Amino acid sequence: MAETFRAVWVEEVAPGKFDQQIVERTLADLPDNPLTLAISHSSLNYKDALSAFGNRAITREYPHTPGIDAVGTVVEDRSGTFSCGETLLVTGYDLGMNTPGGLAERISIPTDWALPLPKGLTARESMILGTAGLTAGLCVEKLLEAGAKPGDGEVLVTGATGGVGSIAVALLAQLGFRVAAVTGKLESADFLTGLGAWKVLDRETLAPFASKAMAKPLWAWAVDTVGGDTLFNVIKSLAYGGGVAACGMAAGAQFQANVFPFILRGISLLGVDSVELPLERKAAVWNKLGGDWYIGEQLDRIAEDIALEQAPEFLARLHRGHGIGRYVVDMA
Ligand code: NDP
Repeated sequence: MAETFRAVWVEEVAPGKFDQQIVERTLADLPDNPLTLAISHSSLNYKDALSAFGNRAITREYPHTPGIDAVGTVVEDRSGTFSCGETLLVTGYDLGMNTPGGLAERISIPTDWALPLPKGLTARESMILGTAGLTAGLCVEKLLEAGAKPGDGEVLVTGATGGVGSIAVALLAQLGFRVAAVTGKLESADFLTGLGAWKVLDRETLAPFASKAMAKPLWAWAVDTVGGDTLFNVIKSLAYGGGVAACGMAAGAQFQANVFPFILRGISLLGVDSVELPLERKAAVWNKLGGDWYIGEQLDRIAEDIALEQAPEFLARLHRGHGIGRYVVDMA
């Protein structure tokens, strides 16, 4: 009898209505790619929630298994690149979008999507970070490349309790920056100060800027995980020469803008992509996350471990914007 494994299975049960179950699948159900991994851990990202609730900009065809992150051991590598039993990490590319993803005990992928587990990180820690950690790392790297230094003034982080936001808060604080964390969940202020936030601000603090062409310069730099009009409210309130690393769209993909912050204050809008980034660039940031940028005990503060059976419930939470920190799916 063929070996079976468990996977999250998203089906369109009525037009526009999507249902998430745990099902048994076989290896023959997976695409015919050279590299097969036995997954020990995955994690939940906002993009997985979009896929699980039928967003066709992420996933064109259903039924589907989401999961843009996975870590596990090599079961087979027909390309001869990796050895059986080696632990590999996969984030992004098409995993969990239109290729069956990491919310399953097995994945089958092209060999050039996978990296050896970075030195300094356990398999579980690599999934506490996952795409969110890689993205937070890329945002911080963009700010440092733009000249950000701890003495410059406050660094604003929006969507601060979310996956990317919470890791960005912890990493920036560890690097010596004074972080102003913006959240819609003021009841989680202790979580954010525990990660090293200098101050915690209600999301509504930025709302009055919407009616102004420019706002008072308040922050030296920013990481925006929220997008929409929040992104331009952040841009308007940056101090002269500042910049924002923009990676997200939890509040929407469109924003109204004007040129004043760019031409009067020299503000930089720094775009961040973690998905199609060349593998060697991903590896370089992962090595920092396991090395100089290792955030140590903050990883456990950020993480909640869940079973595969709980993934549908927690995906729904993320879809409503109610997630806090990172959810690690333990399949070991
Ligand atoms: P999470 O769901 O973990 O966090 C998103 C957070 O954004 C929420 O917890 C909430 O934080 C805040 N938020 C949610 N809805 C709204 C809203 N309507 N208005 C303002 N704030 C809101 O998501 P991730 O951390 O996984 O991802 C964050 C964003 O980054 C997503 O848009 C995702 O698509 C994007 N992303 C982009 C990547 C890239 O490569 N560019 C890679 C990874 C993620 P709070 O309550 O604290 O405000």
